[in-house]
Amino acid sequence: MLMRPMKNTAAPALAALMALGVSAGAAAARASDLDPQIVKLVGSVSEERLGAILRKLESFETRSTLSSTDSPTRGIGAAREWILKEMQSYSPKLQVSFDTYNVLKQGRITRDVEIRNVMAILPGRNPRRIYISGHYDTVAFAGGQGNSNAGGSPGARAASPDPAAPLDNPAPGVNDDGSGTALAIELSRVFSQSGIEFDATLVFMAHVAEEQGLIGAWLHAKKAVDQKIPIQAVLNNDIVGNDKGGSGIVDGATIRVYSEGPEDSPSRSLARFVQRWGARYVPSHKVRPMSRPDRFGRGGDHSAYNQLGFAAVGFRESRENFTKQHDVRDTFDGISLPYLAQNARVNAAAAATLALAPPPPSVVNERGQPTITRAPSGYDANLTWAASPGAVAYRVFWREAWGPDWQHELTVGNVTHLLLPGIQIDDHVFGVAAIDAFGHESSVTAWVSPARAQMDIKTSGQ
Ligand SMILES: [Zn+2]
Repeated sequence: MLMRPMKNTAAPALAALMALGVSAGAAAARASDLDPQIVKLVGSVSEERLGAILRKLESFETRSTLSSTDSPTRGIGAAREWILKEMQSYSPKLQVSFDTYNVLKQGRITRDVEIRNVMAILPGRNPRRIYISGHYDTVAFAGGQGNSNAGGSPGARAASPDPAAPLDNPAPGVNDDGSGTALAIELSRVFSQSGIEFDATLVFMAHVAEEQGLIGAWLHAKKAVDQKIPIQAVLNNDIVGNDKGGSGIVDGATIRVYSEGPEDSPSRSLARFVQRWGARYVPSHKVRPMSRPDRFGRGGDHSAYNQLGFAAVGFRESRENFTKQHDVRDTFDGISLPYLAQNARVNAAAAATLALAPPPPSVVNERGQPTITRAPSGYDANLTWAASPGAVAYRVFWREAWGPDWQHELTVGNVTHLLLPGIQIDDHVFGVAAIDAFGHESSVTAWVSPARAQMDIKTSGQ
């Protein structure tokens, strides 16, 4: 069993935990919750680089999915070439490519168009994937989001009189979603240059055609389903760079994280994970999990992954300024680089921890039934889970069956079973995370009641 050397001061705590039957690996985890490698990685996020990326993205004037692709300096063609080359320049370890689709005219796609997500893969020991993403396409229309939100009629989306021609009106999109794009690009640098060997494969993704209905993200997620690509988690960032709300309230110290329910869904678990590990590595930045898929009536690329069955959450700045969204006023001067950098650090802490930790344990049997019983007394919590590769310990969590956050946790050794005598499984929710020899903790898998089958009751004489 691998163990990091510990300071002498930790020895009594270790002895006490070992006396309780807790494994040495778990004790090591307790003695050093923070991994110095991750501390260093989080600390290498650069405000200056984020700023340079945003200024470059702004220089393309528009990155509309429907804009021209023949200019070397303006429009989405120039933008995607630059993003590709920028990420390629960071490290030979990054596999950077276009993820290309031919989309026919439909909905807000006003003509047949080739679209390209830009993706950088940092291979890990394991094919399971952790994504950090934003969308690099932009949109601007008369009145912007500010007018729509204030009850005005939405402006005409297509400024071009000829829908078959490129849509080249200015749409700088520095916050929506240059901010999420810059965050993903900068973290591709930070992770690929960290020297850390990750267990999971990391993917840094700049999606396209988000503004036409999450099209780039949906097509990529669909491809992952068809090709059985194991996507474990998606951290999607969309509008994460402005700390001055249009209401006048300034908040540069919190970030919202939206997740699809129900309350113990994989996406909700991912949001809790971001809150838990963000708080440890970036204690000055508060994560506010939101128990809903996204802001009211609005959407983002994480929802496309949810639709296709993947765990995905959406990061959103705490106080939006709607007058600068989908508007020519979405320019660099609306960005707070210190705020964007903090949001990048929270993403980095969560993704690095997830990618170093073992995969989350499975808590269902081969028939998909949760492996939890009341045995042996009929009033106990009897929990069984499948071993996770690389785990040396597990952490069991529980809470009253009312409320979103775990209330209790217990670290156990390299076992796949725990009996909690006298705790009614009817009144509590239970979950379990896997921990490796260095204390990296996976996200929590909860034991969830399966949905009741549809009733089909036969009657006679009616
Ligand atoms: Zn957006």
